[in-house]
Amino acid sequence: RAKDLGRNSYQLYTPAMNARSFERLSMEASLRHALSRHEFTLVYQGKIDLNSGRMSGVEALARWRHPEMGLVSPVEFIPLAENMGLISEIGAWVLKAACRQCQSWHELGLPRVRMAVNVSTLQFREGDVVELVKQALDESGLPPQYLELEITESVLMQRVEENAQVLQELRAMGIHISIDDFGTGYSSLSYLKRMPIDALKIDRSFVNDITEDGDGAAIVSTIINLAHNLKLRAVAEGVETQEQADFLRERGCDEIQGFLVSRPVSGEDLVSLFDRNLL
Ligand code: C2E
Ligand code: MG
Ligand code: MG
Ligand code: MG
Repeated sequence: RAKDLGRNSYQLYTPAMNARSFERLSMEASLRHALSRHEFTLVYQGKIDLNSGRMSGVEALARWRHPEMGLVSPVEFIPLAENMGLISEIGAWVLKAACRQCQSWHELGLPRVRMAVNVSTLQFREGDVVELVKQALDESGLPPQYLELEITESVLMQRVEENAQVLQELRAMGIHISIDDFGTGYSSLSYLKRMPIDALKIDRSFVNDITEDGDGAAIVSTIINLAHNLKLRAVAEGVETQEQADFLRERGCDEIQGFLVSRPVSGEDLVSLFDRNLL
């Protein structure tokens, strides 16, 4: 950034950069009001148990319906929200909405699935996650064993002692924890062993080259074995083809998630996927 270069340095300024920074500024301005204008929504993607073929869980994924830009991806607005100090508020909304949705499926008499919610680095570090989780469960009536938090590897490996403490508290409440995008960070195996977690979610970049002759197959098999040796479940994300699913089943992976079974869909659309063999 130009600012980092110091007062006396110059940076070339192009119309394209101008347009980009303008877009960014206007996005920031509207992000500030997005919550109060009810522009956030959640979509859901099933996690399928490779043994039963049934949906065993669901991941909530945030979407921002921008009035002019249309659907904005969380890959864009989550980092922005973090920079703007809005992540705690948005994260709280996501958690509460997801718990409410899950409890209402249970109340409809649908097979009981667990709801997974992504928690960002900053939210985990700065917010009182334990208190927020208590509130969300309380308000929705969802029993804690039906809530799972997905935390990325990099978050977990920073401030290990403090994080392990927070995770212990969540675990003691009955909540499940999984490590998201596993394999992309730098987990220390000895830390991993000490973390109170339930599952490793294999990053989709590895799943993606299972069937090419890249290193994907070896890495995926290794992570599945690692998970099982640590008595954790192995979940593969980004499964798009039958070949990938077959490979994963053969290697003993527990659950898969990906476009092969379903794209992330609205809460209403997800209902048709309950109670069916999806494999
Ligand atoms: P993630 O938690 O690893 O979620 C998986 C992402 O992969 C989702 O992207 C999902 O739509 C996409 N995906 C699922 N199946 C497939 C597939 O078969 N092929 C491919 N190519 N992609 C697939 P999405 O919804 O854009 O979310 C991106 C990331 O944004 C998430 O990655 C998560 O880290 C973050 N995110 C999403 N919702 C939230 C939220 O509520 N809070 C926070 N803090 N982060 C969120
Ligand atoms: Mg996730
Ligand atoms: Mg993931
Ligand atoms: Mg991912």
